[in-house]
This record gives sequence, C-alpha cells and structure tokens, in this order.
Amino acid sequence: PVTAKELIEILRDIYENISANKEYLTQLDSAIGDADHGINLTKGFKSVMEKIENMGDKDCGSILKTVGMTLVSTVGGASGPLYGTAFMRAGQVVAQKTSIDFEDYIKILEAALDGIKTRGKAEKGEKTIVDTLEPAIEEIKINKDKGKDIALELSLKAAEKGMEYTKEIIAKKGRASYLGERSIGHQDPGATSCYIILKTVADKIL
Ligand code: ADP
Ligand code: MG
Ligand code: MG
Repeated sequence: PVTAKELIEILRDIYENISANKEYLTQLDSAIGDADHGINLTKGFKSVMEKIENMGDKDCGSILKTVGMTLVSTVGGASGPLYGTAFMRAGQVVAQKTSIDFEDYIKILEAALDGIKTRGKAEKGEKTIVDTLEPAIEEIKINKDKGKDIALELSLKAAEKGMEYTKEIIAKKGRASYLGERSIGHQDPGATSCYIILKTVADKIL
C-alpha cells in the first residue's frame, strides 16, 4: 500500500512530469484550443506541491482533497475544475485512511471518472480526458484478478490507445468543439495530460 508520504512523492512526480511536458501539452492545445493546457496544469500542480509538502502526517483523504481544492482555485481553464473535482472525489474514497491499496486505487479512479463526467457532462468518444481515463479503468477492472502489475500495465496500454484515438475523432466538449471537423487529426491535450498522470502513478506503484 501507498502511505501518505509516498502519496506526496507520487504527486511530486506528477508535478515534475506535467511540468516536463508543459511545452508539449501547450503545443497540443495551441492546435485545437488556446495554447495554455501545459501552463495551466504546471501552475496548478506547483501550487499543489506548496500546499501538501508538509502534509505527510495527515491522512490520504485530506491530502487528495487539498490537491483537488488547490487545482480548482488555481487553474483557470476547463481542466482545473475537472481535475480538481476528480481529486476531491478521490479524497472521499480514502477519507481518514493512512494508506491506499490497489483496491482503493481502482475505487479512486472510478470516483475520479464519475466526478469528471458529472462535472463536464462528457462521455467517451468526445475527445476529452474521459477518452483516456475510462478505458484505463475498464481494463484495470477486467484484469485485476491477474494481479496489480499486469492489471496496471494493461490499463496503461488501454489509456494510451484511448489517448491516441482522440486524434481520429471530433471534439464535442470544451474549446476544441468550436472547430468541429477541423479538430480531427489533433490529439486532445486533456487526454494527453491524463495519460501522463496515470503513467506516473503506474510507474510508482508497479
Ligand atoms: P481551457 O480549454 O479552458 O483553456 P485547458 O486548456 O486547461 O482549459 O484544458 C483543455 C482540456 O480540457 C481539453 O483538451 C479536454 O480534454 C478537457 N475538457 C474540456 N472540456 C471538457 C469536458 N466538458 N469534459 C471533459 N474534459 C473536458
Ligand atoms: Mg486551453
Ligand atoms: Mg484557457
């Protein structure tokens, strides 16, 4: 299981990987949006790290709740409230808990997806974060009896496929939807940041 201190380390890795991909995410957003996705998330996760750095003695639920609230309040774009809701919902799953096991992680992913879909009114196939997250969860659930490592690896593959599939489809939500058919051929920035986050977690708990 992942302890509160390890959770903070994972969140630091997320911040580092998002910020290492800041230009890339922003470039993807410049094709079908307003060229700020990498900037938005880097700023958000930087504030997150400042807030949670010293929360190692707190429970995992409080840490994730703080992550969510910080993202909502510091990220100006559509992605802030969406990821913010996801992390706040994740926090409810492990409220009062001092560690997170694999079963918790699956529940966390489900709660996060539910939060994003409720908040953003998006379904799979609309060229959003959902296109990465939903297949990842489906695959982790199908394969969970094969053990954590295999399930995570297959889940990550499904997430990557979902992310890549966003190139083929028309955006139905957010700014990219204004482009209609012209959004085809471009990978969705949010689907990409979601893959980076899932990969960071999997790399750490594999
Ligand atoms: P903004 O579009 O406000 O500048 P960002 O650039 O930070 O915000 O985030 C854009 C990403 O947000 C998109 O690539 C998409 O994945 C995601 N997104 C936008 N609207 C929705 C929605 N309704 N549901 C799910 N994801 C969405
Ligand atoms: Mg944007
Ligand atoms: Mg914006």
